[in-house]
Amino acid sequence: MIPQLGEEEAQAAAEAVRSGWVAQGPRVARFEQDFAATVGAGHGVAVSSCTTALHLALVLLDVGPGDEVVVPSLSFIATANAVRYVGATPVFADVDLDTGNLTVETIDAVRTARTRAVIAVHQGGVPFDTAGLRKAADGWGVGLVEDAACAAGSTAYGQPAGAGAAIAAWSFHPRKLITTGEGGMVTLDDAEGAARLRRLREHGMNVSAADRHASAQPVLEAYLETAYNYRMTDIQAAVGLVQLGRLPGLVAQRRALAARYHELLADIDGLVPVRDPAYGQTNYQSFWVLLNPSYGVSRDEALAELAGRGVSARRGIMAAHLEPAYADMTPGPLPVTERLTRDSLILPLHHALSADDQDFIVGILRELSGR
Ligand SMILES: *Cc1c(COP(=O)(O)O)cnc(C)c1O
Repeated sequence: MIPQLGEEEAQAAAEAVRSGWVAQGPRVARFEQDFAATVGAGHGVAVSSCTTALHLALVLLDVGPGDEVVVPSLSFIATANAVRYVGATPVFADVDLDTGNLTVETIDAVRTARTRAVIAVHQGGVPFDTAGLRKAADGWGVGLVEDAACAAGSTAYGQPAGAGAAIAAWSFHPRKLITTGEGGMVTLDDAEGAARLRRLREHGMNVSAADRHASAQPVLEAYLETAYNYRMTDIQAAVGLVQLGRLPGLVAQRRALAARYHELLADIDGLVPVRDPAYGQTNYQSFWVLLNPSYGVSRDEALAELAGRGVSARRGIMAAHLEPAYADMTPGPLPVTERLTRDSLILPLHHALSADDQDFIVGILRELSGR
């Protein structure tokens, strides 16, 4: 990802600085409202990252020691780490080969009596089956946290991916479609939950610092519980508000570039590019390609060849259970996860990518095929 940042973002950040409101203030409040409206949620609570958003989501669900939380291993490691922050145990479930996402079946295969929640990821922007998973989670009586870090602008069942989520966590890291430098958001429809999240991100205070400063009368705050400093700054929110306006254009451009990749790659044997699932549309935050054995060249050879010619493709999505941090766990078999992480690569897809660039990249992949 190369973030698309321009003079408008620079101006907006400068205005925030000149206003004197540099910590969480009115721009954060506006960004929360506009972002929640964009993704079809009732409330948005801005935080410092998606990682802290996931942590607070689990705190809100009262998940803790002795509880299990089902997560995909095939995800950025923050998804699993959030479970450990609250003292619970992550349990890895396998994913679907086409979407890279958890399914009702893969969750059910690892679910136990101790399962308190599931964190399902809209991986690389590809929405999971929101209707299917939400219904199943309700039926099992477990919480469903939606890791929508990559999903701004993705849709499922004709709605934004996070619409109707019990709780969703978003990222504004520069590797995502829209960025605030660092930053995240929790969205949800429940007003009481949103109020508690606002306290949890701000030391457990019952009056926000912004409200306290805005009041003409002295306001005595109370600290209701042990909490965190996970706030977003007004400088970040100012940038986010401009970025949010760019979102529809960014998604349209990425989908057009992805469609062209699909045409160019169609006749190469053994290459399977990611596509829209039947129930929704990806924002193509990650355009990954699975290399089947018939392609004839390994993923690592292909990556090396591309790098050698100046193309910065990346390995496919990581698998947390293969990392040293999770070496103490003994998950059940995760064959699809291991295949996707070993045999897929992510092709360059950004606003500065030209048709010539795409022709050049696919030309290398065609040349390698069957070698
Ligand atoms: C990027 C990402 C995160 C972490 O986001 P931060 O804002 O960097 O904390 C979490 N989950 C997934 C699936 C991600 O892709």
